Amino acid sequence: MKKVSIFWFRRDLRLEDNHGLFQALNESENVLPLFIFDKNILDKLGNKADARVEFIYDEITKIHKQLESKDSSLLVKYGDPEAIYKELMSEYQIEAVFTNRDYEPYAKSRDEKIARLLQKHEIPLHKFKDQLIFEPGEILNGSGEFYKVFTPFSKVWLSKFKPEKLEEFKPMHWKNLLKTSAFKLPTLKEIGFEKSDITIPSKTADEEIISHYDKTRDFPAKDGTSRLGIHLRFGTISIRKLALKASELNATYLNELIWREFYMMILAYNPQIVDKSFKPAYDRIPWRNDEEEFKAWCEGRTGYPIVDAGMRELNTIGYMHNRIRMVVASFLTKHLLIDWRWGEAYFAEKLLDYELASNNGGWQWAAGTGTDAQPYFRVFNPTSQQEKFDKNWKYIKKWIPEINSDKYPKPIVDHKFARQRAIDTYKSALNQ
Ligand code: FAD
Repeated sequence: MKKVSIFWFRRDLRLEDNHGLFQALNESENVLPLFIFDKNILDKLGNKADARVEFIYDEITKIHKQLESKDSSLLVKYGDPEAIYKELMSEYQIEAVFTNRDYEPYAKSRDEKIARLLQKHEIPLHKFKDQLIFEPGEILNGSGEFYKVFTPFSKVWLSKFKPEKLEEFKPMHWKNLLKTSAFKLPTLKEIGFEKSDITIPSKTADEEIISHYDKTRDFPAKDGTSRLGIHLRFGTISIRKLALKASELNATYLNELIWREFYMMILAYNPQIVDKSFKPAYDRIPWRNDEEEFKAWCEGRTGYPIVDAGMRELNTIGYMHNRIRMVVASFLTKHLLIDWRWGEAYFAEKLLDYELASNNGGWQWAAGTGTDAQPYFRVFNPTSQQEKFDKNWKYIKKWIPEINSDKYPKPIVDHKFARQRAIDTYKSALNQ
């Protein structure tokens, strides 16, 4: 049997500045790069033309080609990771497995299972930090506890942040890849998916946009945000490289990258928030959960133009501007009193940049149930949000061509009435 060390790609789909890969090539010989299409994750996706799966497929195809040019290859498997490791152990003599850490609850339990399996066979598993600048546990308060509020967390984060040197791969590293002829990739169809017609935003971090981010980021009609969400989610760009750029170009942009780390830390310390409110008392709220109203919200037919434009943007291109995400989430949970988990699940299905920690954090913030949340008595007024952030109706007209015709629906609920109903409902649930 061939002796190899494995480097297992997951949320780090790049050869550039990939910390775990660098360590594997630094410390081992015959490194076999591996990617697993995890059946446990893919089976839960309802849409067979899911653009995110196609994106992963395209990115690993690129890696496959890049490795081929180095006389190596990417081994791509489809199935249950534990079963696949068992299979690999019968084909190769595995000396070690290298990978980058993932902090989501499912990923952690999967990795623990793999670690136990490898340990039984005395194969060391080496895990590295790659996805974050500071991982959960690195930024704690004076009592050694995690921060529940963003601002003090971000202050400590900034005080500790030193732009790092990026990993520089040299020929002496690449020569440690396993020399092999190209493995055959499964097709998208073979893993149960097909092509989608959604376009993925470019992974170029546009310096012009980042430089003006603080002035443009709140206006959905402008091209004022970086659209890098999906690339950060799957690690097709390096967070170290992006944070370095952000620190040179725009403090507000860097602050958003800190929010990403804050929510990942919150989820790592509080895995129960996947389906529970961060503040337990908020699970007493008697959501109305009207299915017809939920459908109208999903389809962008609430009669509130800023809400409907956002939902149609999401349904059409798999993206929604951050300001509008806050407005639609507030509208669903406060105006319609629909459980934030319904909205969260809908976003999870549709967003290209869907990321469990940030999505959960964003929804719990809007519903008032989370860490550092906006207080429940502050209810966004969709009309004044529109006047402030889309005053020329440019964004709205783009997504709702029939806005000025009879075809556009009347408001599903009166703002003043809904606001008061939300405040009263929250208040009485919390005072029980
Ligand atoms: P930019 O504005 O250019 O920001 C750059 C990057 O910083 C983002 O790509 C993202 O990684 C990070 N970032 C920015 N704002 C936030 C934030 N508030 N919280 C955490 N990270 C942030 N972000 C996701 O990445 N995945 C989600 O599933 C997600 N769901 C959300 C749901 C709700 C209800 C809300 C209010 C926000 C959500 N966000 C989510 C945060 C934010 O809206 C998106 O990160 C942002 O709109 C993505 O666009 P962009 O790539 O152009 O970001």
